[in-house]
Formats: sequence, C-alpha cells, structure tokens
Amino acid sequence: MQKVPDKKGYFGQFGGKFIPETLSVCLEELEGAYRKALKSKKFKADLDYLLKDYAGRPTALYYAPNLSKFLGMKVYLKREDLLHTGAHKINNSLGQILLAKFMGKERIIAETGAGQHGVSVATVARLFGLDCDVYMGSEDIERQKMNVFRMKVLGARVIPVESGSKTLKDACNDAIRDWVTNVKNTYYLIGSVVGPHPYPLIVRDFQSVIGKETKRQILKKEKKLPDYLVACVGGGSNSIGLFHPFFDDRKVKFIGVEAAGYGFKKANAASLIEGEVGVLHGAKSYVLQDKFGQIKNAHSVAPGLDYPAVGPEHAFYKSIKRASYVGVEDKEAIEGFNLLSQLEGVIPALESAHAIFYLKKLAKKAKGKMAVVCLSGRGDKDLEIVQAHTKKR
Ligand SMILES: *Cc1c(COP(=O)(O)O)cnc(C)c1O
Repeated sequence: MQKVPDKKGYFGQFGGKFIPETLSVCLEELEGAYRKALKSKKFKADLDYLLKDYAGRPTALYYAPNLSKFLGMKVYLKREDLLHTGAHKINNSLGQILLAKFMGKERIIAETGAGQHGVSVATVARLFGLDCDVYMGSEDIERQKMNVFRMKVLGARVIPVESGSKTLKDACNDAIRDWVTNVKNTYYLIGSVVGPHPYPLIVRDFQSVIGKETKRQILKKEKKLPDYLVACVGGGSNSIGLFHPFFDDRKVKFIGVEAAGYGFKKANAASLIEGEVGVLHGAKSYVLQDKFGQIKNAHSVAPGLDYPAVGPEHAFYKSIKRASYVGVEDKEAIEGFNLLSQLEGVIPALESAHAIFYLKKLAKKAKGKMAVVCLSGRGDKDLEIVQAHTKKR
C-alpha cells in the first residue's frame, strides 16, 4: 500500500501543516504522543474495551432485503447509527480522549458547528471526568438549542463566538487561540479528518475500525468483497474510515457522496466537486471559495455535511482517481431519508440519507452488484427538519 500521509503529513500534494509558528510545538507534541500510544498495549486494550462496552462495537453489517429488492442490487448497511450517541463520531472521540489522558492533559477543548461533534466530545469528557469547553458560533447556538442543552447536561461549557460570521470557521479560530495559550494542560479534540497534520491521520486511524469490521463481516457473509463502498462526505471521516482499509483492494470502488444543497452553482457543500485547491484550517485540500479566495458559506440540509472544505486524504483519492465523488441535493436526501425509513424501518441521519439516495442512481448501472453503505448516524435528530420540509411541499 502507498503509505499516506508522508512524514510531513502530505497525502500527495494535499494536507500538510499551514499554521502559525506558535502551533508547531503543540502539533509536534501531539504527533510524538500518538506514535507512542500506538506502541502501547494498554492504550490499545483500553480503546478496544471502550469501543466494545461503552460505544457498542462491533456494529452490525445488515443486509437490507427490501431496499435490495427495490433497487435490484444487493445492499448492506454498516450500522454506525446503532452506536452510543447515535453516530460514528464516538469512535474518534473515544480514541482522542484516551490520547489526551495518555498525554496527561486535564482539559478538553473543541469547536462545533451543528453541535454533533460537541455532544460527542462532551460525552467522552464526562466519562473521564475532564473539563470540557466547546466553542460554538452564536448563530449556531441559536439554531441548535437542543444540542447546546445536551452539552450542558453533560457538564460541558459552551462558549459563544461572536466574531466574523458567528459560525463554525470563527469557532475554529477561537479554539486554536485557546490551544496555543493553554497547551500545557489542554487537548484540542478535532472531529473529522481535517485540520493540520497529524489530525487527518489520527482521526482516520480511529475511524478505520468501520472498514476493518466491514471487511471481516462481508467476507464472512458473502465470501467476497463488495463492488462498491458508498458513504456521505462532510469533513470526510466516516467515509475514510470505511474506505481506507480497502485501499489496496482495487476492485472495490469507492463513492463519496457530497451535499449538493440547493444544487450545483447554487448554495451547496460539495467541496470536492465545486471547490478549488486551497488552504483551510491548516491543511491544503479542496475548499469552497469565491473568486477573491474568501471562504464561502456552505449549505446543506444535513447539519453534519455543512462544511466548506474536506479532508486532504479525499482530495488525494480524487487526484489519483481511487474514489469518485458525487453530489446529492437536499430534496433528494429527504427522499433517501423516507425511502430507508419506509423500506427497512431504519430512520437514517440526513447525512447518511445522501448516500442512501445515491444508490437509486447507482442501481441504474449496477444491477445485481453488491454495495456496502455507511449508515453514519440515526435520524432522530433530524425529524424536525424533515417535518418542516414535508409541510412546505
Ligand atoms: C458529523 C457527521 C457526518 C459528517 O462527518 P464526516 O467527518 O464526513 O463523517 C456524517 N454523518 C453523521 C451522522 C454525522 O454526525
């Protein structure tokens, strides 16, 4: 296998560390500790235990009979929606909180957009009795009251960010400023395969449990590998987690599904399809920006896909054509949401519903083939959004 990232954190021409000098000490300490943790038997045993007994791994690989019949292809769902807190984010949060403990840190900070990552971090911080401060744009706080309350119930402090557009990218800036100032006792927990090296590597490794289990499970059930792996792409962690362990299995096609929002050329969050090569949050990748290089506001009906960039490993997969990336619009995602709910009795997160909808397009050219779809989360959190959309029509 081609080893990415390289020592400097590059996936081909993407990734790296585009950061102020003051941050490099923090990142080097983190990378050193991570390499050490990888060699520790206790670290691995602790993580395996928590993934199993706290989070609920391994998750089922469920053959979806009704959806398969409807589509005319064989569909398996990797059920990350069954995990504690209802999504794959807990895999990464557990890994990184153990790393923070391993480093002797006493305080966790994070930034969150819609609040899903914030909730996941608040959860694991509580488990370990660590202080937890979550930066969140004041606009986002207003929009996501339930997740803010959930974080507070879990004992986290939610710090409103009033600068700039008062959303995720401003929250990132404040979190980084905090980290540089307090690095001695503070761990910065990033929620997807984004940010400067070594974060895209660390988060990918912790999420790769998805793909490793899938491989074992599908070989047991089908005695062969699937033709397609399909997953939604926000920052890109559930998809990389599924894809990465299959990198060398060249016959297995990877399809990443981005949020095309209101449509291409309109407001969307499809960084790989509509974006340009640029730098955001310390890494080089595809970024949605205007002709002046200003970051555009992303749009998706799915809160977790509403991010104007994407992890550098996806940019790399795109450049070497290892994966293909497609877009699904808001209204199509809602159709995917209803389709899975009604056929299988499984209500998917709106993020995952993008991947479900794409199967309808794929089935037209892939009759009889086998696909594994990552069901990254459950849809309870999205019921109000879907209800509002249904009323509108
Ligand atoms: C956060 C989230 C995503 C998007 O994040 P990735 O890093 O792209 O996986 C997708 N699905 C759910 C349920 C989420 O909570």
